Amino acid sequence: MWGMIATWRMAVEGLTEGANTLEKGGSAEEAIVKAISEVEDFPYYKSVGYGGLPNEEMEVELDAAYMNGTTLDFGAVGAVKDFKNPIKIARRLSVEKANNFLVGVGAEKFAHKEGFERKTMLTDRAKIHYKNRVHKLNQQENELTPYSGHDTVGMVALDQQGLMTAGTSTSGLFMKKPGRVGDSPVIGSGLYVDSEIGGATATGLGEDLMKGMV
Ligand code: ASP
Repeated sequence: MWGMIATWRMAVEGLTEGANTLEKGGSAEEAIVKAISEVEDFPYYKSVGYGGLPNEEMEVELDAAYMNGTTLDFGAVGAVKDFKNPIKIARRLSVEKANNFLVGVGAEKFAHKEGFERKTMLTDRAKIHYKNRVHKLNQQENELTPYSGHDTVGMVALDQQGLMTAGTSTSGLFMKKPGRVGDSPVIGSGLYVDSEIGGATATGLGEDLMKGMV
């Protein structure tokens, strides 16, 4: 028996690849990292990885987490800039004994030392969205609502050996304050998995989700 679920339409291609891995007997760890990386790499998804929408200073800051449901080991990064696959950094952090959740410069230093691939994550398309939004805000003085422009890819996988894993990746809220981290990389809020029970991931406004202890 194996299975895999994910949030949003943007996950379909990655999920299909992950499911192939699981069907062939591959691990839930490999499947989830592969599947989420695929979503991170796709430039037209505006809320995850490459092409993600920037913060109010036009910088793309990314959050991601990975959890192993058998050992309960986890790794997470928050507000990390210019690394190609935050989910891979999160997975790598999950094998550490401590220092499993790193943010900002600390996360970037770790990723650099470990040889993770760097990439400018701000695309021309994202810049256009940013400039249009700034223009609108200036023109109409319309208030930016927290619900305009976000979504997280979250996945849970079960492999044929009975291992369950969960992962999340997001650029968080469009026009967020620099340094803002939502629920997505927070274990027990953005995601949780226990191979004996099941797993879940969340998507929606992080500030609301964290109030609910989902
Ligand atoms: N939960 C994400 C965050 O607040 C955004 C989302 O899932 O839509 O960072």
